[in-house]
Amino acid sequence: MPSTAILRTCFDVMHYSGAAAVLRPYFAGRGVIFCLHRVYPGGGHETGFAPNARLAVTPEFLGEIISLVKGLGYELLSLEQAAARLWQGGTWGRPFAVFTLDDGYKDNLVHALPVFRRHRCPFTVFVTTRMADGNCEMWWRVLEHMIAGSMSVNMEMAGNCYRLETRNDSQKAVAWDVLSPVLKAMPEHQQRDWTLRWGEKSGIDVFAMCRSAMMTWDEVRALNADPLASIGAHTLNHFNLLKLDEAEAKREIEQSKKRIEEELGEPVRSFAYPYGNSDAAGPREFGLAAEAGFAVSVTTRHGLVFEGHAQHLQALPRIMVSGRFQKTRYMETLLSGVPAALMNRFQRVNVA
Ligand SMILES: [Zn+2]
Repeated sequence: MPSTAILRTCFDVMHYSGAAAVLRPYFAGRGVIFCLHRVYPGGGHETGFAPNARLAVTPEFLGEIISLVKGLGYELLSLEQAAARLWQGGTWGRPFAVFTLDDGYKDNLVHALPVFRRHRCPFTVFVTTRMADGNCEMWWRVLEHMIAGSMSVNMEMAGNCYRLETRNDSQKAVAWDVLSPVLKAMPEHQQRDWTLRWGEKSGIDVFAMCRSAMMTWDEVRALNADPLASIGAHTLNHFNLLKLDEAEAKREIEQSKKRIEEELGEPVRSFAYPYGNSDAAGPREFGLAAEAGFAVSVTTRHGLVFEGHAQHLQALPRIMVSGRFQKTRYMETLLSGVPAALMNRFQRVNVA
């Protein structure tokens, strides 16, 4: 993946040359599904060591994206409405824009909901049930915290010993770049055992960290009470489904639907695959989501939505809204569909 700086420059060239605007009619497709995670004041603008800042944006930027798509003539739809429209096919009016937020962060209720209300914009939040229970080992947050709060790390991970100085931000960034891919690649249960064990050794209350960031079930119900909000499922444990055997992947998908339905007292019709890229969800998972009875499921495969996706409602692509790219001109370039067309080698539907 090119660096943030290189991508920003590419986006600027496409924007200021007018290429994005000229090519939009060819590549923008029928609509866009945005993928966000966290929304809070200052979100994504953290300086120094903040490897998870890309997951956050400010409430102002969320408002700017909604205004941008409205200004470009997009219709704001819920995910289910967009899926129904794709399925029905036929003549097409304006393109649609759908807003989704993954995991179920507390700030979705506190900071994102008021923005969606102000714009009368529907949205879906995908809840991981153990996060709402407050006992999920969110390894990416724990590892960040461990590195941020130490002068050195000396630990065993996946059979190797790591001794790394973490005195300043650049050393911390190196430690993150070394350790996070190893932890991410570990088998899912080992990864969570490691997170709990080493988190505790470092004085971190792993579950308290989860509870402080994530909505409780009462908060999920409060959010769901707003007519603009829909709640979707995001598995029980936020495991990479592709790394699980089929029986466990099936349980993660089906049981999360059932559990949220029990908590909310209403059907859950949409699903998001944890991590969601082609390393974390493929045809087997798309089939399992269909079997579980979801009307629509979303990946994080980068792309805009085309007519052809009507045959692949369990594998819809999304556009990630990153804290590192909080400028409407970057979003406008992404909405042109040109970066997605280049990335997908001009293949509109990528579900393999
Ligand atoms: Zn997630």
